[in-house]
Amino acid sequence: MPRHLRSAAVHILACLVLLGAWSCRDGSAASATDSGAREPDKKVVVCTTTMIGDIVRAVAGGTAEVHVLFGPTVDPHLFRATRDDVQQLMAADLVFYNGFGLEGYLEPTFRRVAESGIDLVAVAESILKGDEAMQDAGVSDPHVWMDPHLWARTAPLVAEALGRLLPDSAGLPGRAADTNARILALDSFAREAIATIPESARTLVTAHDAFRYFGRRYGLRVEGIQGLSTASEGGLQALESLVDLLVDERIPAVFFESTVSERNVKALIEGAAARGHRVVLGGTLHSDAPGSAGNYEAMMKHNISTIATALRGDSTATEALK
Ligand SMILES: [Zn+2]
Repeated sequence: MPRHLRSAAVHILACLVLLGAWSCRDGSAASATDSGAREPDKKVVVCTTTMIGDIVRAVAGGTAEVHVLFGPTVDPHLFRATRDDVQQLMAADLVFYNGFGLEGYLEPTFRRVAESGIDLVAVAESILKGDEAMQDAGVSDPHVWMDPHLWARTAPLVAEALGRLLPDSAGLPGRAADTNARILALDSFAREAIATIPESARTLVTAHDAFRYFGRRYGLRVEGIQGLSTASEGGLQALESLVDLLVDERIPAVFFESTVSERNVKALIEGAAARGHRVVLGGTLHSDAPGSAGNYEAMMKHNISTIATALRGDSTATEALK
């Protein structure tokens, strides 16, 4: 986007944020006078992605009202907030987002949220220590949820933030421990499943670079046609060098992603076929949103099973992995 358009867009967004803040204040004032409710209103927590929202819901256990901004098929790299979304963020008591630039278009709104004094937690940025964040050309990779061993740390972080909001809620640490254990079970599942793929076939080719944390944890080489963000285009050169890789290393399968166009992946399959190497479509992975899997755990189980089955070249073991 040209600079002048970008600053105009930021300006419009800032105006919307202000409008949102005012109308939210009006709204809450009205409900306080109208309702006369006996129970105190629940605190409102807004999360950007489902991967975060699932953990926040599990840890909150009904003690807070939890909203997830992005639907199950939304590409977070390309998400632009509507006026309602901005209002929802500005009216929250606590906001969790991924960070590392995943929600790129929301960053001006996040600044406004923080400036208005709302507790704002960048989950992925907060759970990584030292040099754990993966880098690509100086940019930190935001797809941390792809490594459940790291993502499990989200549970105690969420409990801590919810504890600031709900100091009387005694159940938070226990639910955080349970949630942490459930996500760590995904890590064991992934290690066992990936171990069934022959070492020579451990290369994962997908539409964009969402699986680098996954690959680092489980020993897979990963290649994406587009870079870390789907906002970047996959160039012809990237396609050609990936076709070379498929042909040279006899890689058996490539994968669609449910939030990214299938066009580039189809071009890879056709490119390899033109050079006499048959590549199959290994299935559709859920990279940046849970898609039809519906939630984080189901999405990861689906991805792990799909990858292991396709790269093993064996469809009969799918059931055993589910
Ligand atoms: Zn992505």
